[in-house]
Amino acid sequence: SLILGIESSCDETGVALVRLPDGGAVPQLLSHALHSQIDMHRAYGGVVPELASRDHIRRVLPLTEHVLKESGTTLQDVDVVAFTRGPGLAGALLVGAGVACALGAALDRPVLGVHHLEGHLLSPFLSEDPPEFPFIALLVSGGHTQLMRVDGVGDYAILGETIDDAAGEAFDKSAKLMGLPYPGGPELSRLAEGGDPEAFKLPRPLLHSGDLDFSFAGLKTAVLTQAKKLGDDLEARKADLAASTQAAIVDVLVRKTLTALKDTGMRRVVVAGGVGANKLLRAQLNAACAKRQIRVHYPELHLCTDNGAMIAMAAAMRLQAGREQAEKTYAFDVKPRWPLDSLK
Ligand code: ATP
Ligand code: MG
Ligand code: FE
Repeated sequence: SLILGIESSCDETGVALVRLPDGGAVPQLLSHALHSQIDMHRAYGGVVPELASRDHIRRVLPLTEHVLKESGTTLQDVDVVAFTRGPGLAGALLVGAGVACALGAALDRPVLGVHHLEGHLLSPFLSEDPPEFPFIALLVSGGHTQLMRVDGVGDYAILGETIDDAAGEAFDKSAKLMGLPYPGGPELSRLAEGGDPEAFKLPRPLLHSGDLDFSFAGLKTAVLTQAKKLGDDLEARKADLAASTQAAIVDVLVRKTLTALKDTGMRRVVVAGGVGANKLLRAQLNAACAKRQIRVHYPELHLCTDNGAMIAMAAAMRLQAGREQAEKTYAFDVKPRWPLDSLK
């Protein structure tokens, strides 16, 4: 059957079509389209929720028409309409949920609300080299940093998570302190390529805490202190500071992931979320895992950050696993806060 997926939890409107084959084969992405609002929010230095909601309204139907056209299908061919139910910005989520349920009602098709982080988590199944269960997942996005044990679709145990800022937030806030435009993660990492990662000694919070939790708030403070100390020299040393910041974040992520693998005896790790696009993270994790004969899987680069494909994929995989039944119930609600391990 054919699944239409709609993502609108934050500042990206994403729509995609996934074909769910009969039997156990991996669902196939037919087409997807994305509109990023980054340019609109940049002037404000971050996402403005009300502007985000209004822009989702403008984009979602044109994007839907685009994916239908590109895949040579029509709305009548759609069997299930999936949407991001949470977590995310309430107003933004309501747009996707409202449109999905209106489409479902108009077409007389069932709808399915999807967990945004499950979308990120399962996005590597859209790659050329999809993982197999079970695995350790390192979920590193703008709002979340979690290590999970994943035994199957809907079978998620959180092993550790951040007690304050997320990894993506650490990138973004540090970048902002250095005067880089929003979103700072990719900007900081680009700047870091020309810098010395050992130029500044920055803290690796909770590295030896004996658990799998993370903390990045102290790192941000250390970056601020260092930036102030540099004063007029900041401009000249920016690449060094960026490289040192990135090295500190990546170091903690890689080492805690290795600990999770060791603790559980797992031989496979999946990285998901926007920070999964980071080149240094990929290089260091690949090197560490190659040495230990552990397999690593990532989403394709363009599917690391928010998109509709991962939402359609998560819906398809939940339906395939029998974890969910899409229903013709169009009285929708959204869940701005929704822990991933509460899923079944
Ligand atoms: P959540 O999924 O937790 O609700 P989100 O949807 O905002 O949060 P994502 O779309 O997964 O998060 O990722 C966005 C984050 O990824 C931003 O913080 C961004 O800076 C970061 N990011 C993207 N590319 C890179 C990169 N190359 N290096 C470091 N960080 C990056
Ligand atoms: Mg985003
Ligand atoms: Fe996200």
